[in-house]
Amino acid sequence: MATYFGAIADDLTGATDLAGLLARSGVPVSLRMGVPDGPPVDAAAIEIIALKCRTEPVADAVAETCAALAWLRRAGAQRFFWKYCSTFDSTQQGNIGPVAEALMADLGAYQTIYCPAFPENGRSIFMGNLFVGEQPLAESPMKDHPLTPMRDSNLMRLLAPQVTGAVGLANRLVVAKGAAALAARLAELRAQGIAHVLVDAVSNDDLSVIAAACQDMALMTGGSAVAMPLPALWAAQGLVARRQGAGFARVDGPAVLLSGSCSAMTNRQVAAALAAGRPAFRLDPLELAERGARPALDWLAAQDMAATPLLYATAEPVAVRAAQDRLGKDCAGKLVEDALAACAVLARDQGARRFVVAGGETSGAVAKALGIKRLDIGPEIAAGVPWCFAQSGGQDVAITLKSGNFGAETFFADALERLA
Ligand code: ADP
Repeated sequence: MATYFGAIADDLTGATDLAGLLARSGVPVSLRMGVPDGPPVDAAAIEIIALKCRTEPVADAVAETCAALAWLRRAGAQRFFWKYCSTFDSTQQGNIGPVAEALMADLGAYQTIYCPAFPENGRSIFMGNLFVGEQPLAESPMKDHPLTPMRDSNLMRLLAPQVTGAVGLANRLVVAKGAAALAARLAELRAQGIAHVLVDAVSNDDLSVIAAACQDMALMTGGSAVAMPLPALWAAQGLVARRQGAGFARVDGPAVLLSGSCSAMTNRQVAAALAAGRPAFRLDPLELAERGARPALDWLAAQDMAATPLLYATAEPVAVRAAQDRLGKDCAGKLVEDALAACAVLARDQGARRFVVAGGETSGAVAKALGIKRLDIGPEIAAGVPWCFAQSGGQDVAITLKSGNFGAETFFADALERLA
């Protein structure tokens, strides 16, 4: 069966998050790192292309996403999805709106929806306003994000300057009436010339209503959760098929834990792994600047890989700021990413076949160093964090890529257990 659903994500862990939720349906999901060079080979029913365009200049993001769209269409895809962050990470310039408009133009789609809600992770939308837990977006920690500070909670106001077309709302009162009512509201807005429709959602039931009402739209946009009900709807119509047989490939062999995220949750996860007595090495950007990655690599080379070593740069905000003040933010980040990537390669060469990676940027650096171009999505460890299967250095490996705030405090142990 050719590809039916093609999705484009604006960053890597956003793509694995979407992939994990879609794979819950049992329909095979494949994730490509960047737009593949060649024509589609071995395409799965659901193909996701992970880009890194969240904060790129608008023209570059548009060009890349349109190239991704062209590849997905060649793979046979007939329904498309533009995935961005559940906190609507963007600026006045974009890239959420401009990319959506460009994809709509390419597809000849007159209308699309925007729904970043992810109720399982505390992102809900009511009357066009996005909440993070109980806080309005603009009062959440996202107000201080270094690249995309979110200073307004109203998604219509955030989207309007990013698009040329008119913006409207299908609110929760409509969604609560069901798919037919929502479809009627969308048609009504279309008749008024409204191309960009924000849709409220506060629960998974709302997302099911939205998916049912929008499943025939050429393009939907949003966070990962609103796409989650789509594969089951299409499977029921015979448009996609569920995976046959026993399930996933089995990858045995030693594991290594690599953490470059400094989010609050990752700090707790690393603390839990240390408390559990895992052999661990802390990478410090200041020391990396002075002595390079050699001490970390030497430490790793001396480890018994069967004991699942942990290498982490994860630190509290004060320490991160101190390193950034001394080295510059980009330099500190790059030193850590490069060092963890080198550790991943050494671990593989020492026999590691399972890789647990924490941090979005860190994940990109590690996956790139391991030469991974494609991931087949396996079992989910936590909401939005699946195990993935891939090839690296001619070996079958399993890898999981976790964005900062995802997973429970016991994430590292949970990950190993899930694959046992
Ligand atoms: P998250 O998903 O939590 O945002 P990322 O990996 O995307 O995690 O981003 C964390 C960034 O912080 C990376 O660039 C990483 O290299 C950098 N970093 C990690 N540890 C430190 C540290 N101790 N000091 C400064 N920067 C760090």
